[in-house]
Amino acid sequence: MADRTPILAANWKMNKTIEETERFLAEFLPKVPDSGPEVVICPPFLSLKTAVEHCMQSHARVAAQNMHEQPDGAYTGEVSAPMLQELGVDGVILGHSERRQYFNESDDALARKVLVALDAGLEPILCVGESLTQRESGETEALLTRQVAADLAGVPDNRLAGVVIAYEPIWAIGTGRTATTEQAEEAIALIRGLIESRSAEAAAAIRILYGGSVKPENAEELVSQPDVDGALVGGASLDPEDFAAIVAAA
Ligand code: PEP
Repeated sequence: MADRTPILAANWKMNKTIEETERFLAEFLPKVPDSGPEVVICPPFLSLKTAVEHCMQSHARVAAQNMHEQPDGAYTGEVSAPMLQELGVDGVILGHSERRQYFNESDDALARKVLVALDAGLEPILCVGESLTQRESGETEALLTRQVAADLAGVPDNRLAGVVIAYEPIWAIGTGRTATTEQAEEAIALIRGLIESRSAEAAAAIRILYGGSVKPENAEELVSQPDVDGALVGGASLDPEDFAAIVAAA
């Protein structure tokens, strides 16, 4: 890996109450090394405040799993960037495939959300990735090219390095079916090439993660690929021991 600090991010999805969050962090945080990879916990909205308070004295940071692009207004059930800022949250996952699939998250909205997050000082973790059908019909490159172009359309070249991209093949999420190290490296190198066509400097600096059934057993091999700068972890991040083992592997 080049000079980029790896990131291990835990996407808890709709899991863990506040009490469960406290229990997880009490066990997990003492295992987080004071230096080394960046560790990011992404709990549900209701646990963000608790997570921020617990992580404050540690090397771990906290990110949300989504946010609305408007600062306020009549958007029932939504949460805005200023609300996340007020809690002391450091970042936000944007465009997770589950949000694209179940909540009709569009590339247009994502392009706006990425900019709003950057302007608010929240590090966006932008998820991109193809479905199994798209991979099998040879559309992976076209899909990734389209998503990266559309979702980062509004970000000036000199701010691209402030975005984190997570390559998450949909067929590998929660399925136990991990991309091979070659598949992960190939897709992530492709994404880095897309960034390079806009700015060589940004391409060298931007962190691009792999996500999709990362486990303690496969984390080291995946993260050791030259273009893979860490992992976005779903299922295995729910267990403090497993996630600590993944952090240690990186
Ligand atoms: C995810 O939801 O971002 C993810 C990668 O999930 P899992 O690790 O469970 O495949």
